[in-house]
Amino acid sequence: MIAIVIHGGAGTINKAKMTPEKQKNYELALQKATEVGYDLLKMGQSALEAAEAAVRSMEDSPLFNAGHGSVFTHEGKHEMDAAIMCGKTLQAGAIASVQGIQNPICLSRAVLGHSNHILLCGTGAQAFAQTQGFELVADDFFDTDLRKRQLKRIQDSQKTQLDHSEEDTKFGTVGAVTLDQQGNLAAATSTGGMTNKRYMRIGDSPIIGVGTYANNATCAVSCTGHGETFMQYVAAYDLACLIAYKSLSLKEAGDYLVHQKLPKKSGGLIALNTKGEIALPFNTSGMYRAWMRSGEKLRLEIF
Ligand code: ASP
Repeated sequence: MIAIVIHGGAGTINKAKMTPEKQKNYELALQKATEVGYDLLKMGQSALEAAEAAVRSMEDSPLFNAGHGSVFTHEGKHEMDAAIMCGKTLQAGAIASVQGIQNPICLSRAVLGHSNHILLCGTGAQAFAQTQGFELVADDFFDTDLRKRQLKRIQDSQKTQLDHSEEDTKFGTVGAVTLDQQGNLAAATSTGGMTNKRYMRIGDSPIIGVGTYANNATCAVSCTGHGETFMQYVAAYDLACLIAYKSLSLKEAGDYLVHQKLPKKSGGLIALNTKGEIALPFNTSGMYRAWMRSGEKLRLEIF
């Protein structure tokens, strides 16, 4: 059994603003990312490889709040967070508040594979990136008109927003969980964080056990939503604990965490276990998600 599940963020674009063309573009981007990861799994590549590739594909799309389409900080810059974890070894790599890295998920993978650390941030992560041959790109590489409008609207309001505005309520973080032919799990998450964030704010995504977690004994999980809330609930690890300590099924654990514990409208998650079972609970208006398992067709849902 091989499997991949991806998300392109909890929440949805306001129906009035969602044209069939926009919807199609989102669907194509989700389909592409799922297939990129699935094809690697089919070729016998590792769960880590597939999760990284799927997330990278979404980072390259301007539609999602990760990599190229990352939101603006209060100062009009882009600071990105990302993490990746191997369910077999519990090795993990993460970067936070990093500028100028085109594919933050690849830098996380480099932290996992080529450093003695798990979480690097800011200019330190940039310096490490350069030792690994990553090229820094100019900050305006990440500028997109949608994010510019979102920042303008709230710039003086002292608020931070989750890729969320009056015209859309979409949190655009991306993530993937994968199961490879060897029966190993991996999880990966990447985000530009919150529009108008300040003081090098870091969200849940790069925090192992909060926005991202993988352990073959329980599940692989990638979260999306209000980062501060997910930190308060230690969301990803809590899901694993519900399975390990309470013997809940993956679906029961996901439903309990997202619908009973987390506050309403705070977000959602994607999760996968070594049996190939999946859970995709969310308590927002929707969550961009797609999945594919051996012997099944690709499935894609937004609402
Ligand atoms: N969880 C992310 C953060 O708070 C945002 C998101 O999921 O869109 O940084």
